[in-house]
Amino acid sequence: MISTIVLERVKYLPRELEPGILYVSEEYAVAGHLCACGCGNKVITPLAPAEWTLFDRHARPTLRPSIGNWQLSCRSHYLITNGKIQWAGQWSEAQIIAGRKVEQQRREDYYASLNPNHSFLHWLRKLARKLFGL
Ligand SMILES: [Zn+2]
Repeated sequence: MISTIVLERVKYLPRELEPGILYVSEEYAVAGHLCACGCGNKVITPLAPAEWTLFDRHARPTLRPSIGNWQLSCRSHYLITNGKIQWAGQWSEAQIIAGRKVEQQRREDYYASLNPNHSFLHWLRKLARKLFGL
């Protein structure tokens, strides 16, 4: 189990990751690290408005939202804040399902916000349906 993580900027994520390093490729908008529990699994987090956001202060990274490795057997869940690993509670099945829904909603909201015409059309269609039963 690790308790701290440092930021390392790279062009490509290396094939072999070292524990305690958060590799960040700005070019490919992706970050990768080894699961903080020590299980050795790679955790790849896309950096995008609907995915994860990286804040770095003097090489001490903060990543939001939390890292929930419910797809790994360890099911670890933690936050990376100012280069420190903050352990969060293990996820129950219900939380995993809820977490997936929140992620999905976040993505949908983001893509909807990128395309206001689409939501305007959607609104028009809804109005037409209401007024004319179309
Ligand atoms: Zn793990």
